[in-house]
Amino acid sequence: MKKHCGTLLLCLLALSLVLTGCSGSGVKTGTKAGMYTPGTYTAQAAGFGGKVSVTMTFDANAITDVKIEGADETPAVGGKAIEEFSGMLMEAQSADIDGISGASYTSKAVLAAAANCVAQAKGEDTDQKTPVADGTYSGQAPGFSWTGMIKADVTFKDNAITDINIVEEQETYTGEIFYTVLDNYIPRILEAQSLAVDGISGATLSSNGVRGCVEQAIEAAGGRSSEWYGEVAKSTKTVKKEGYDVIIVGMGGSGITSFLSAAQAGAKVFGIETTAKLGGQSATTSGPMAANSQVKMDEEFGGKEYIDADALYKAWKDYCGADAKPEMIRMAIDESGETLDWMIKDWGFQFSPMSSFILSPYPDWKIWCYYGGETKNRFGTNKTYMFENAVKKAQDQNPAAEYMLELTAQELLMDGDKVAGVKAVYHDGTIYEIYGKTVILATGGFIGNADMMNEYLDGPANTVAMTVDDGDGIKLGLSAGGALMNPDIPPMVHINQVANLIKNNDLDADGKQVLTSLAIATDALAVDGTGKLWNTREEICLAPQYRYYNIYTAAQIEAIKTKGLAKVNKSMFMDQGGTVEAGKPIANIDEILKVGAGYKNVLTAESAEDLAKAIDCDAATLKDSLNGAQGPYYAVICSGYAYATCGGLNVDDAMNVLRADGSPIGNLYAVGQDSMGVLFSSDVPYTPYGGQAQSWALTSGRLAGANAAKYAMGK
Ligand SMILES: Cc1cc2nc3c(=O)[nH]c(=O)nc-3n(C[C@H](O)[C@H](O)[C@H](O)COP(=O)(O)OP(=O)(O)OC[C@H]3O[C@@H](n4cnc5c(N)ncnc54)[C@H](O)[C@@H]3O)c2cc1C
Repeated sequence: MKKHCGTLLLCLLALSLVLTGCSGSGVKTGTKAGMYTPGTYTAQAAGFGGKVSVTMTFDANAITDVKIEGADETPAVGGKAIEEFSGMLMEAQSADIDGISGASYTSKAVLAAAANCVAQAKGEDTDQKTPVADGTYSGQAPGFSWTGMIKADVTFKDNAITDINIVEEQETYTGEIFYTVLDNYIPRILEAQSLAVDGISGATLSSNGVRGCVEQAIEAAGGRSSEWYGEVAKSTKTVKKEGYDVIIVGMGGSGITSFLSAAQAGAKVFGIETTAKLGGQSATTSGPMAANSQVKMDEEFGGKEYIDADALYKAWKDYCGADAKPEMIRMAIDESGETLDWMIKDWGFQFSPMSSFILSPYPDWKIWCYYGGETKNRFGTNKTYMFENAVKKAQDQNPAAEYMLELTAQELLMDGDKVAGVKAVYHDGTIYEIYGKTVILATGGFIGNADMMNEYLDGPANTVAMTVDDGDGIKLGLSAGGALMNPDIPPMVHINQVANLIKNNDLDADGKQVLTSLAIATDALAVDGTGKLWNTREEICLAPQYRYYNIYTAAQIEAIKTKGLAKVNKSMFMDQGGTVEAGKPIANIDEILKVGAGYKNVLTAESAEDLAKAIDCDAATLKDSLNGAQGPYYAVICSGYAYATCGGLNVDDAMNVLRADGSPIGNLYAVGQDSMGVLFSSDVPYTPYGGQAQSWALTSGRLAGANAAKYAMGK
């Protein structure tokens, strides 16, 4: 557990900006004869992923129309809530209604904006805030972490927020992303005195957690948090930057190795990164595969090769069948050792001794290594500093290599059928048009894009990954005429958990751990989403909707209550801060199941038919699977938590994006997760040998950076 003591930030107040409510505007069409001045009024507030906008039309005494937009809310949760809210507001004829459970951020935003519309229609002063008392007040809200909430002390003076001090968090347990919230989001809230400032890209859940703490503190101080969403001005400037050899979209693992090799070749490089730090998902990765790295051979294997590269190639090729490109698998293996050597020798990266992956069918193949180094988190070493040091070294060697954080690529600039540059937007709203001779797409796949997950896979997946990896690079590649390769490869999954993580205090840590244990137990009767028996847990990504159901009878639950679980599966990363031991009675199991059911983690049914309805599967199939087990039943839902998608753009061995006819788009490249479909098959899960994805990110980036530099500089 991390404790942050003392004042993080002193207030740098721009008081001129303060004391505005949720931002709104309206068009009046009449004068106030009844309750309202007839007209249409619009207001916005910050939702889960971005702005939510509510437009309400009023006649003299009634709300006559409600329109709500929130393109950045998650479709399954916030998007669904938005659909329901219009009807609810119309029916209640008021904004004073309850939110929709499970969509608290979207609910708050809709209701704050709706309240603002009503206030405008009533002719009230929407700029006036309810006063808050001077002093320090606490808030607690869930963020990204599975093991605890964010706790903040918020200080008010003269109706302004003067300090937001994070006193407890477990966010940094999973990586360094939370520091971008501390360093950027909190100062921006203090400066704008508004909760409408954008959350930090790549740290949405953590940003929302901090926002939730501040909202609670405002309420505790006697204020109304919905009034603290004053509009934050955005820049309308456009900046042109020209003359680059290589533009890289995404500065995660593959983007950074592209940057390093292009800079090393002397190219004028520009890196674009949407988050507020370098490293992307690769900075939370455990580590890459490396076949016969010379450094590792010398250090650990007496100078000898430690893997039969031909055997590895054959196993990988046979596993994937005809779907993958054999020459690309060969390249991924043969270049991986060289990549590791280059990272260690040229750029100062550190890696642990070679080891085998726990799920590997070939335990003797020590082809995987962790990033090495001092400071640790749940996923191993903190590695952002290694990526930062390497980029800094490249810039010292080549001052023409630059990059910008919090800049999001939106469009490819085209010159005929050639790529001419990238249009991107900075967090403050400034548009950048960056022109160059080549572009490398390195945006980490599409796990965060619900539409693409629906189009190519079984729908959106639960994820431990950064949902900012939402298919931008792939969409940019398609817009330039590129073709896809195997976008329907199942997502990479190594972690299972209950379907809807409970992050608040509705269950204590031990209760959460019990629910998890029931979900991931390997000795329970399990069925997949079709009702068929389900045994192969490693292939969770092939289960319909990436989930399965562990079914317990009432008699089994009674036995667990008095005797405990027979076995506890300590599967990867299941820690939610509590403990559960085999053979220890769980007296409160009924309560745990009830809370679990409230979060849609547990389905209850008297009969097999009812259970089939709850699972939405065929009753006869389920009955077969139940094999006479008598109800009532409890089905605990276990879900895969994905690391990344695997399919992407089709590329050749120069990492050039290919069109559907197989011809290369000469100056466009795709690397890492954006082009990993060339290595795998839609028929089987991601290869289980250890580190193929991270290895591909690093290797494909190294090769593409060098190739793009060569192309751009005419060498
Ligand atoms: C918890 C976890 C553990 C993992 N462990 C392993 C492991 O041990 N071994 C392994 O092989 N793989 C592992 N993986 C998978 C591995 O992390 C990915 O395969 C790898 O990081 C992909 O690298 P990348 O460069 O393609 O993507 P990333 O490293 O995620 O980089 C993509 C970058 O693009 C940026 N970006 C996205 N959109 C835009 C835009 N529009 N404009 C600008 N920038 C943008 C993102 O912010 C990000 O920085 C793990 C994944 C997770 C989640």
